[in-house]
Amino acid sequence: MAVPIHPPVPFVPVLAAALPVYAEPAHFSALSMAVLSVLIVASAALFWARFGKVVTVLRAAKPDADFSLHPIGKRVRDFVWEVLCQGKVIQERPIPGLAHAFVFWGFLAFALVSLNHFASGYNLGFLSAHGVIGGFYLYFAALFALLVAVGITWLFIRRFFLRPRYFGSKLSYESGVIAGLIFLLMATYLAAFFTPAGSTAAVALWWVHALTILAFLPLIPHTKHLHLILSPATVFLSRGEFSRIPPLVGDEDFGLVTGKDVTKLAALQAYSCVECGRCTEHCPANNTGKELNPKQIVLGLRSYLNTQGPASEEPIVDGKYETLHSIFQCTTCGACEYQCPVGIEHLPLIIGMRRGTVNTGVWEDDYGAKLFHTLERNGNTLGMSASERDKFIQHAELPIFDGTQEYCLWLGCMGAYDPKGREIITSFAQVMRHLGTTFGVLKKERCTGDPVRRLGNDLLFQTLAEQNIENLAQNKVKKIVTICPHCVRTMAKDWQEFGGVTAEIEHHSEFMARHQNALPKADSGKTIVYHDPCYLGRYRGSYDQPREVLARSGTVIDPPRSHERSFCCGAGGGLVFLGEEQGDRVSHNRAKELTATGAQIVGAACPFCNTMVRDALAATSDAPPELLDIAQIAARSLQNSSNAQESSASS
Ligand code: SF4
Ligand code: SF4
Repeated sequence: MAVPIHPPVPFVPVLAAALPVYAEPAHFSALSMAVLSVLIVASAALFWARFGKVVTVLRAAKPDADFSLHPIGKRVRDFVWEVLCQGKVIQERPIPGLAHAFVFWGFLAFALVSLNHFASGYNLGFLSAHGVIGGFYLYFAALFALLVAVGITWLFIRRFFLRPRYFGSKLSYESGVIAGLIFLLMATYLAAFFTPAGSTAAVALWWVHALTILAFLPLIPHTKHLHLILSPATVFLSRGEFSRIPPLVGDEDFGLVTGKDVTKLAALQAYSCVECGRCTEHCPANNTGKELNPKQIVLGLRSYLNTQGPASEEPIVDGKYETLHSIFQCTTCGACEYQCPVGIEHLPLIIGMRRGTVNTGVWEDDYGAKLFHTLERNGNTLGMSASERDKFIQHAELPIFDGTQEYCLWLGCMGAYDPKGREIITSFAQVMRHLGTTFGVLKKERCTGDPVRRLGNDLLFQTLAEQNIENLAQNKVKKIVTICPHCVRTMAKDWQEFGGVTAEIEHHSEFMARHQNALPKADSGKTIVYHDPCYLGRYRGSYDQPREVLARSGTVIDPPRSHERSFCCGAGGGLVFLGEEQGDRVSHNRAKELTATGAQIVGAACPFCNTMVRDALAATSDAPPELLDIAQIAARSLQNSSNAQESSASS
């Protein structure tokens, strides 16, 4: 008997027939449409009641004088990576970052579904569950609904049960309500796939879903979820450079003093804060028991704008919105700004407020006044006479720069006057000589102005910057190399406000890394733990170069907090000159971490880190590791290899 042959059954239609179908009400009556219209108008009105005020503040805030959209390519790249890919959030905190990314991507996928949802309420739905495109898209959105539901559940558990320290002690019930609404949105959407089309249940689900969206909309501008709308703009419209300090404009600009000084970018950023606490989690001041809380700095400004407004002449640093004490506890390490997932730039705010209080005479501090006076009188932070610098130059046999040498070796205050800084300079000069690089030091140098720039004394900074710029131009310097990352940053970036220099500026770690093949590879058998200086790492992105140099002399390891997450030594922002700290010392916290690695040597690459960590190692350990700058380690390797050559030649 012949077996009947059936035509092959297409796989996809069979699969599609087996899948549940998204169910919607069959038809909406005129009454339903009228009710829906009233609810939409009410929701939009509540939304605008708050969002309109935010827009008014943003419009009224002062324009940012130095803002430019160029280079646009970098802005687009940052936007794609940080906003669309959620790359920074995932990179910094993989699990919560992914959970957040699912919610964000789900929102994007749901934009079309939500539009269709309300259109169908007027019998105008455009995504048909039975059509190819509509059917596919509704399933595509269902996949995201699942991911969003999982993501938001995890974020809820984390916020209400795991409760990391940086969320603060107060429970955010608002976050719980928002999480509940998002979960309900996803649940009602998914449930519609398991409901008969046109049934009462489908109608009920449709309305619950619609009402959830309409309840969620006004909550956005009334809560920290305002970042959903503002943060893409905040990331795209950033100042375009890490820790960029905007210039003061005109004789009446003293910094961030009152509401009239708040710029559009500062206001936009204040309203974009999602209150995640990442900035506070990484802040060295907050981690050592100080009052400073970078999240609170941003929220303080937001609170000021909400209550006082951008036209107010009331001071911002008044003890209520922002406190004088906290803004002068900042080491300007940049950890907060680096971590912020929505592109908030804390340092222009903090330094802006310091400027405001210094330039108007509100900040009175004996140490600060002494530093300013010393710099005005001596031109260096250590208050020593220039003849001491001359003596060191003679003693170390450093050539004077006369325009014939390739490099100007910039000594900086620490390299010229501090005994340990001088040792680093001497070692680095030894390395340069070994490499056959010609160099010279200027007859005269003044402090680059780094500490006064960060402390907010603009007048003194301008004086120092202009004197140095003129001096370098007169000496026709084309290349500068220095042992101090603070000098590098200030010369390369901050001086630009006053014309800048055309010379190439390099940190000695970068210089040595470029010449590493000409340095001896002499493994000392020792373990070296490298401390990333904030101004070399986060500010300049030089992480590999110092490690490459160190790797020629030993085994390099990292402390738990390294690279972009490196923990400050406590010196930056002029704090090294400001006397006693509140709470634990930042440097002690770091020194304990470095010692705990068990390394025999701590490798440093900044004379300020060197001085802070040196004292802290001695204070926190009976048998601390040896502390050396990378130049000293390289010079020691040179010495060891030359000794080895001599002994092999003599044997
Ligand atoms: S720059 Fe550093 S010290 Fe200052 S607020 Fe930010 S994290 Fe804290
Ligand atoms: S400023 Fe940025 S990092 Fe800090 S809480 Fe706000 S969003 Fe989070």
